Amino acid sequence: MPAAARLRRRLALAPAAALLAGCAATPAAPSPTTGTATGAGRLVVAYEAARTPEDRTARAFLRAHRVLEDAAAYADARIALPRDVPLRAASCEAPNPYWDEAAGRITYCYGLVPEARRLFARAGTDGTGGTPARRPAAAVDEDVVGLSNGILFHELGHALVDLYDLPVTGREEDAVDQLAVLLLASGDERHAGYAISTIDAWGALWKAAEGGDPGVAAYSDVHSLDGQRFFNWACWLYGSDPGRFADAVDAEGNPDGVLPRDRAALCPAEFRRIESSWRTLLAPHLKQP
Ligand SMILES: [Zn+2]
Repeated sequence: MPAAARLRRRLALAPAAALLAGCAATPAAPSPTTGTATGAGRLVVAYEAARTPEDRTARAFLRAHRVLEDAAAYADARIALPRDVPLRAASCEAPNPYWDEAAGRITYCYGLVPEARRLFARAGTDGTGGTPARRPAAAVDEDVVGLSNGILFHELGHALVDLYDLPVTGREEDAVDQLAVLLLASGDERHAGYAISTIDAWGALWKAAEGGDPGVAAYSDVHSLDGQRFFNWACWLYGSDPGRFADAVDAEGNPDGVLPRDRAALCPAEFRRIESSWRTLLAPHLKQP
């Protein structure tokens, strides 16, 4: 399904009038280093052996869809690293990808694939209260790949903060969520779709817990609450191109819009601030103008 159609279906978004604007308004195709960016490092992909049958299935899925390879190429076309950084997929104790500063590598956990698959297999995961129904396997696959990209670029943000000793005021988890949206919004329709999948995941996690007190663990966590991440990601994607994503806003005649009007009004400025902040921080390391 074309990304624009997915956008309408999932977030009730408008047809694409133009490619998403972003920190690099060129399509996703990797480009050679221009020579202006400092740092010759790249993400180096490795799929380590899987320890369980479920992880082996996940490993085969990730390899078949070239998930890590494509994410690495997409990032490498845009940002130079000070040295090569392993981007490895591995069996983990918990299904949570992470940046390991001591080891200097990003780890994608095979366990995220079945977790994400279960999450996306239920319909109405987009926060709009759709009717529960089984979703087609191909659509679920697409969302698993999308969420994987959203999370990988989030982890890349942590890596950049550490590797370049970037200043961060406020919560680093929010800052690297912002980088992930910025990267996804700066590419083609496929990558905008990845952002939608990630938004849907936060929406599904939020809906799953709605009605209950998130509790001490969630309130004290370094991450924003799932519901906050849902609205933040939706806000920033909308803010990246309000014309294209106008239908994301709850408005008269568009009650399915996920963004309340009061927040939506702030999103274009939020996105511009995010873009200029990350562009300033990464200026010496950007491969694209
Ligand atoms: Zn994080």
